[in-house]
Amino acid sequence: MYVDWKRMKKDLKFNSKTIHGGQHPDKAYGAVMPPIYQTSTYAQTTPGGHKGYEYSRSANPTRTALEQALASIENGSHGLAFASGLAAIDAVLKLLGPGDEVISTSDLYGGSYRLFKKVFEKYGIRFHFVGMDNMEAIESYINPNTKMVWVETPTNPMMNIIDIKAVSALTQKHGLLLAVDNTFATPYLQQPLDLGADIVMHSATKYLGGHSDVVVGGLVVKDKSLADRLYFIQNASGAVCGPMDSFLTLRGIKTLHVRMQRHCENGEAIAKYLQAHPKIEKVYWPGFETHPNHKVAKAQMKGFGGMISFVPKGNYDDAIKIVEKLNLFTLAESLGGVESLAGHPASMTHASIPKEEREKSGVVDALIRLSVGIEDVEDLKADLEQALS
Ligand SMILES: *Cc1c(COP(=O)(O)O)cnc(C)c1O
Repeated sequence: MYVDWKRMKKDLKFNSKTIHGGQHPDKAYGAVMPPIYQTSTYAQTTPGGHKGYEYSRSANPTRTALEQALASIENGSHGLAFASGLAAIDAVLKLLGPGDEVISTSDLYGGSYRLFKKVFEKYGIRFHFVGMDNMEAIESYINPNTKMVWVETPTNPMMNIIDIKAVSALTQKHGLLLAVDNTFATPYLQQPLDLGADIVMHSATKYLGGHSDVVVGGLVVKDKSLADRLYFIQNASGAVCGPMDSFLTLRGIKTLHVRMQRHCENGEAIAKYLQAHPKIEKVYWPGFETHPNHKVAKAQMKGFGGMISFVPKGNYDDAIKIVEKLNLFTLAESLGGVESLAGHPASMTHASIPKEEREKSGVVDALIRLSVGIEDVEDLKADLEQALS
């Protein structure tokens, strides 16, 4: 795997790494933006005589630029870009073999849960889904077969926060890998490798891409031998990110810090507006002092992001009416784009989970999830106001 250490720009601050991390003008003509190398193969002068690239599944210069940018913004040494977030998770799980066990966050992205249960369990890997508020609860599941702990924080859609440093103390004590899905927070808000994680995973489809125009996944690690094992899997399995999507994701990353700053500001304003609204029963946002994990959020995150869930007074049908009446908030799956989105987990993302199961974790019939975008916050409030009235 190709790493140009000079290009990593380790000494830059985060808000410069988003723009310059892993990047430098193209060698051919000095293009400032990495060209889209839309090619599958590369001319060789003699067998094996090439300029570092032979075949685009193994490596492609546009993808390399993205992979180096990912490594740079997550303070890692190596980045890997995949065709989707789930393809990235798939590669991580292929580090394991039959008999191995994984302890995972219980309140987890539905697609990750499906991949764990419906695909990898078939190959003899066992998964334990555990509430991660309590370290003793996690430790009680550790046995000689345990190989990895999978953490997602903040969680979707309940916005629970897991203490990455505390979990990493456990994984280090027991010699386990710690993987963190950092999709919701982004490295602008939290950098799991610095908190002791071994692998950071992203659905770059969301905030990193930021414009709802690509499906891309990423992994970042800080250890060369782990990077080599993951690179082997990436090349052997082949779910790589294409050059056009690499280009678009890179372009998104360049404004990550500016977008996240506004997502946080708008998120806070909308959370407080909803909290004060007479038609709202409950608001889930880690910035509230009353949030059960507020202290951990404050310690490990730079801000609280743009994701909010809330329960209006009423039932399933009332929630459907509200999301249908929203205009500026688009009713859609996904999150993390510049435009505001609204979703109804009970009928959308979490519809496949039995009602009793999903209500145990707080996903009640009336729950609505917002991905607060970067529009003018007064317009967003006005849209919520008319939908709630
Ligand atoms: C969307 C998402 C994924 C899956 O990523 P895709 O790019 O859709 O494959 C994984 N984890 C979280 C938290 C997500 O939001």
